[in-house]
Amino acid sequence: MALKKVLAELGSCKLLAVSKLQPAHKVHSLYEDGQRSFGENYVQEAIEKIEQLNSLPDIEWHLIGHLQKNKAKQVVGKFHLIHSVESLALAQALSRQCEAKKIEQNILIQVNLAQEETKSGFDKETVVKQWAELTQLPHLKIYGLMTMPPLTETGEEVRPYFRELRELREELKKQTNTQVHPMTELSMGTSHDYLVAIQEGATIVRLGTILFGERPAKR
Ligand SMILES: *Cc1c(COP(=O)(O)O)cnc(C)c1O
Repeated sequence: MALKKVLAELGSCKLLAVSKLQPAHKVHSLYEDGQRSFGENYVQEAIEKIEQLNSLPDIEWHLIGHLQKNKAKQVVGKFHLIHSVESLALAQALSRQCEAKKIEQNILIQVNLAQEETKSGFDKETVVKQWAELTQLPHLKIYGLMTMPPLTETGEEVRPYFRELRELREELKKQTNTQVHPMTELSMGTSHDYLVAIQEGATIVRLGTILFGERPAKR
């Protein structure tokens, strides 16, 4: 079974099973094998799946896909952790929606280290510059950083990005009140490159294909 083999490789790193575009029955089946944390990319699809599977004890949902500000209201409080906070404006919108619901939301800050046009996330310079503002937003707890490096032939080519994310977390953590924002997490590594990510200090790997097989095409 793929799950067992993968878990043996992960050590203390947390496994997030990326279930985007996979039907709820496949999530249920992996849950029965013992997996509890699932990652979704698309808000509408995620909310439908959460409603279908919410009765499963201890199931935990993460949002890892691009998130528009106007969807902030729909997502706060529904996810254990939102990995894809990609701008100050989005963080502000999430904080306002939490204020309205009197809740707190756990988040990661997504960093686009290769500055790829096609990928979302803060540039490194911007996150450093806006860190004081981000950490002062009430109702958000920043648990760490997330990145999605360029797609390359080999996992090894992305090692410098994973290392850079780890160093950035250390730098930001020094300027942070960790009582409020733990800054303990590094969400990095997919089916393609997770072994390298773990060597570089990943605390959460996001694996889809290796667990579920190829994804059906997007509707
Ligand atoms: C789809 C996706 C993954 C999982 O990718 P696989 O190659 O299927 O493991 C991880 N992270 C993000 C942000 C994704 O969109």
